[in-house]
Amino acid sequence: MAFRYVDNELYVENVKVGDIVREVGTPVYVYSKNHFVSQFRKFDRAFKGNHIICFAVKANSNLAVIKTFAELGAGADIVSKGELFRALKAGIEPSKIVFSGVAKTKDEIEHALESSILMFNVESEDELLNINTVAKEKGRKVPISFRVNPDVDPKTHPYISTGLKKNKFGVPYDEALELYLKAKKLENIDIVGVQFHIGSQLLDTKPIYDASVRIAKLIKELQSDGIEISVVDVGGGVGIVYNENEDKEPSIETYAEQVERAFNGFDLKLVFEPGRFLVGNGGVLVSRVVYHKSNGPKNFMIVDSGMNDLLRPSLYNAYHEIKPLVKKDNKMLKCDIVGPICETGDFFARDYEIEDVKNGDCIVVFSAGAYGFTMSSNYNSRPRPAEVLVEGDRFRIVRKREILEDLIRGEEL
Ligand SMILES: *Cc1c(COP(=O)(O)O)cnc(C)c1O
Repeated sequence: MAFRYVDNELYVENVKVGDIVREVGTPVYVYSKNHFVSQFRKFDRAFKGNHIICFAVKANSNLAVIKTFAELGAGADIVSKGELFRALKAGIEPSKIVFSGVAKTKDEIEHALESSILMFNVESEDELLNINTVAKEKGRKVPISFRVNPDVDPKTHPYISTGLKKNKFGVPYDEALELYLKAKKLENIDIVGVQFHIGSQLLDTKPIYDASVRIAKLIKELQSDGIEISVVDVGGGVGIVYNENEDKEPSIETYAEQVERAFNGFDLKLVFEPGRFLVGNGGVLVSRVVYHKSNGPKNFMIVDSGMNDLLRPSLYNAYHEIKPLVKKDNKMLKCDIVGPICETGDFFARDYEIEDVKNGDCIVVFSAGAYGFTMSSNYNSRPRPAEVLVEGDRFRIVRKREILEDLIRGEEL
């Protein structure tokens, strides 16, 4: 475990988190490089066949984090020009970048074309035609796959379920064949693959297997229509343990066995787009308790970070373990842990049992390595937290805490 208590004090790898807080202040995101590396290796080792792992950059876009994966040979799954910029800066090879997203603009397509990425995951006929037009202007042939919506229920939170007919993502399974035939006629389009991604935080990988079986069937149909598929992109979505008492970590070995079985007999390169699995449990958010108060029967522990720093509880009602930075045998308190933002939805936990952490002491929000800092904002004109990367017994600030001047950059009176 990257994060553990020794003599009641939290350590990340061999660094006392309290030492980081003393130097960097709060709120602060703290990441474990070794956790990222070991999660990547665990994922990589599980697959026997030809595959590449494209880190879903939206989960944690810090350059030092992306670089960690680049050094392990990872590619990147990007969803914007900004993420392309980051991935390239961090040293990801363009030939290992896949571009997802429903709204790629002409400008974004041009950028990705200039970098010669592995493929565009196309999500609509409009997008296909637009890519073809841009490619023609540039005199290029563009590798694409369609993101096909297998209409399989991933049994996860509705906001992170993406593979159902009612979701905006992908092209309908029943229309995929027709779209591939249209794409085949386009001069500047080079069909290479099929992609799907049915949702996030899947603790049971069976829905991914079910989707894979449906996609394998589609590939057979495509082949009999003379369309060669050499890449299958299985998306991301493998879940992690947020709640120690309720969640069970999915087995990567089972997942790998299921996916490889579904595509057995095809000569394919498999692409994976894990985000949360690689980084989620490798990060924490440390925050200082500012005040306590009670409104009648309800107790509040008020801390110095809020939904602008970590949005998941407010957006998804997501659960995060929260513990004291230093355990002190104070009495237990049942409280809402809330931030400074002027919104009722600004909370990290509700009716949460925690050792009463006194004003001035710190709490730690666990499992904040994915969709933490990347979803942060300056709402309420709050400078965003620093990010710190720990490796062994050393730590390094990999993003400075924002200062007031950062808040008004580009503005004019
Ligand atoms: C968000 C996303 C991912 C990563 O999902 P995780 O649940 O973090 O693994 C991968 N692929 C696509 C297309 C996505 O939108």
